[in-house]
Amino acid sequence: MFGRAPKKSNNTKYYEVLGVFKNVTQDELKKAYRKAAIKNHPDKGGDSDKFKEISHAYEVLSDPEKREIYDQYGEDALKEGMGGPGEMHDPVEMFHSFFNGASPFGHGNGRVQRQKRGEDVVHPLKISLEDMYSGTSKKLSLSRNVICSKCKGKGSKSGASMKCSGCHGSGRKVSMRQLGPSMYQQMQHPCDECKGSGEKIRDKDRCSQCKGEKVVQEKKVMNVIVDKGMKNGQKITYAGEADEAPDTVTGYIVFVLKQKEHPKFKRKGDDLFVEHTLSLTEALCGYQFVLTHLDGRHLLIKSNPGEVVKPDQFKAISNEGMPMYQKPFIKGQLYIHFKVEFPDSLSADKLKALEAVFPPGSNPQMTDMELDECEETTLHDVNIEEEMQRKQSQAKQEAYDEDEEMPGGAQRVQCAQQ
Ligand SMILES: [Zn+2]
Ligand SMILES: [Zn+2]
Repeated sequence: MFGRAPKKSNNTKYYEVLGVFKNVTQDELKKAYRKAAIKNHPDKGGDSDKFKEISHAYEVLSDPEKREIYDQYGEDALKEGMGGPGEMHDPVEMFHSFFNGASPFGHGNGRVQRQKRGEDVVHPLKISLEDMYSGTSKKLSLSRNVICSKCKGKGSKSGASMKCSGCHGSGRKVSMRQLGPSMYQQMQHPCDECKGSGEKIRDKDRCSQCKGEKVVQEKKVMNVIVDKGMKNGQKITYAGEADEAPDTVTGYIVFVLKQKEHPKFKRKGDDLFVEHTLSLTEALCGYQFVLTHLDGRHLLIKSNPGEVVKPDQFKAISNEGMPMYQKPFIKGQLYIHFKVEFPDSLSADKLKALEAVFPPGSNPQMTDMELDECEETTLHDVNIEEEMQRKQSQAKQEAYDEDEEMPGGAQRVQCAQQ
């Protein structure tokens, strides 16, 4: 099996389908496709299988790479993973993109327009930091509209529909709005009787499965893959999975990742931050602790001998941050933010012991005479943030009060006129 050249299969059918010779140029190919596709389009009463065949033949022959494979080995080679049926495009969509969305049938056929694009459906998806670190997959059950299989989206048993009498088949209604004594504005809105489709179905002819709605609800389980290192706000999109509707290109389902708060780790880009509180003794004499990482590994973190940690000091461990998206073997930094807990007070004997250990304070000894010349003060505890906030709002209130008192309502008008 290995290394064997693909068996030669039929390699002329696609040319025959389009009615061209094997040495056809790309320009001639385009013209041939245009002619054949218009003639066989299902909307013009053509056979949809024939239309699909034409579309597929053109899709292959218009791609130089695929055409070469086809010429050399035939259509089976294309099916064997070299751009097989899985890659085939929707023939109707392809047809419309070929004509850039313009009506290929000329004017007078209002039914054939550029296909509407259905709305995208956006779902937020809450993900823990652990799952963003290690990657995960989430099974989600969603319900969506799909084209009714019984009536193929026609809504009726017979496939027939009547023109809506409310809008005469246009799907839109026009109303006039009076703006002034002799001024009117014309407004267009979707017809309420047919929901903008322009057609109605006789009660007796309604499809029994969808009751004439053309679509039915379906439960679908989606397996959403969250890759290592994905970020808050990152989108995961699935094309063509949103609600289906007749004559509409199905929109995307978009999952937007929302990272849950983590009690211990904070994330900034690819870096992680952890706070760790040391006792004063640990800060001075050394520390050792175990940090459980997001993937459950235990990291031993310890000081160097003789090292002193100061309050709010940061240290970093390389390559222990978040994995980078699509390069998960590269990781950011893990920063450790040290807090130091100081004792509230110390007893006299402990003070003596400490004074013996630490270098003396820098305040010079003062004589009684010098002290006599100073004024006594009293220190009290404050919460500086609260204090500043209170003062700020106080200042604002005062400024506002002053403004109110200003004699010039008139002055303000003056300003506005300038
Ligand atoms: Zn209508
Ligand atoms: Zn139906």
